[in-house]
Formats: sequence, structure tokens, C-alpha cells
Amino acid sequence: MRRAGLVVWGAHQLARSLVRPGITTQEIDEKIDAFYQERDAIPLFRGVPHPSPGKPAFPAVCCMSVNDEVVHGIPSSRVLNEGDVVSIDTGARVGGWCGDSAVTYPVGRIADDVQRLLDCTSGVLQLAIELMGKRSRWSDVATEMASYVRDQGFSVVENFVGHGIGRNMHEDPQVPNFSTPQYRRNHDFSLEPGLVIAVEPMVNMGSKKVRGLADYWTQSTVDGKPSAHFEHTIAITESGPVVLTGAPVDGESLE
Ligand code: MG
Ligand code: MG
Repeated sequence: MRRAGLVVWGAHQLARSLVRPGITTQEIDEKIDAFYQERDAIPLFRGVPHPSPGKPAFPAVCCMSVNDEVVHGIPSSRVLNEGDVVSIDTGARVGGWCGDSAVTYPVGRIADDVQRLLDCTSGVLQLAIELMGKRSRWSDVATEMASYVRDQGFSVVENFVGHGIGRNMHEDPQVPNFSTPQYRRNHDFSLEPGLVIAVEPMVNMGSKKVRGLADYWTQSTVDGKPSAHFEHTIAITESGPVVLTGAPVDGESLE
């Protein structure tokens, strides 16, 4: 799974180098598609069936969600402008195993409050990774994640959650970024070596509520305020959590 994670990390380094005012989300998607092809990595998002029968499958290798778009945005001829933020979510299968990671990138200079939203969202993912080595149940991690976000005046999106990941991108269990008594009773899971999950907080500046757009895929905030999304694929090992979609360490190489 680390091999897949490293390729997805590499795709994000490419994305980071491409995001700037004037580029379209489609152009970034095409470059990441080529990056995967060169490495015999199979993109996981293209062709994902729509949850509702008869609706179109997802057409691209990345989800690109701009500003008030939360997740599942479709790359297009939309041009990125100074001050935008773009959430890029992408996954690939390498050697039969999957990696999945998302980052919200600033386009040029962004407003201070939007930067705080990005910092809060990457910060709450980092908090979750640390807590995964210190708590025994996911609900304990999720409860602290929700408090962290609330304390900064933002809101956790509840309509979408993280997931188990392995041979397939979406496996059990579901991994919410908040907890409820009902969740704790019926769906909670223990954090043990061998578990691999994709943790992916989505945080809104305003209301937590989202709505679907007419393209059948894109989800945006109901109030038009910005949203951010950070995700890593994380394994729990005997020596603690390991970020499988993180940067190379100890002589690891992408090639
Ligand atoms: Mg993802
Ligand atoms: Mg995911």
C-alpha cells in the first residue's frame, strides 16, 4: 500500500506545482492522468458509478472542487483565479493496492480567513493521525476532531465520511469526522495494528450543510462560503500510525 501511497503523494506534488492563476482544472487533471500512466498506476476515480441509477459515472482522475465546492467537483474548462482555493482529491491502484489523498491548494494569495480554514482542516487531519496512536476507539478520535474544528469557529461536514481502504478504495468501516451516541453504539471500531483507513475531514467556513449541483456530482456549501478538504491514507502499525500517502522517508523513491 505504501507504493500506491507514494504515487498518490507524487501526484499531489505535481498538482502543487501546477496550481496557479490561469490554469484550468481540466489541464491539471490531464497532467495527473499522464503521471499515473507513466507509473502503471490505475486511477481510481474515473468510472466510479453514480450512487443513483442512471446518472453518469465520474469522468476524471481527480475531483477538483473550487471555493464553495466541498467534494466531487468535476475537472473542467474552469480557470483558477488568484484568491481561489481548489481541493484536489485523487487516488490510484498500484500492484493491486490503493492510495487516496486530498489537499486544498491556495491559488496565489488568498484571504486570511480562508487560510485559517485551510490550516484548521489540515490541522484536524494531523490531530487525527496523532490520536490514532493514542486512542482505542475511532469515536474518541472523531469527537476530538469535531471539537477542534468547532473551537476555531468552523463546521465539520457530516454528509461525507472517510473509509477503510485496501485492495479497493472504499472498504468498511465508514470513518466519520464527528461522533454521536448512535454512532458510538452501532458503528464504532477499534484502532488496532493492521487497520488502514482514509481519514478525510471536510470543513466549511459557514454552515455544515451541502447541496448537489446539476452535474450530478459536485457538492457545494449551501451558503456559498468556502470549504476545505484534506485526506491521507493511514495504516496503524505495531509502532504507531504511518501515513501511507506521505512524503518519501529513509531513501524511499517514487520510481
Ligand atoms: Mg479521496
Ligand atoms: Mg477517500
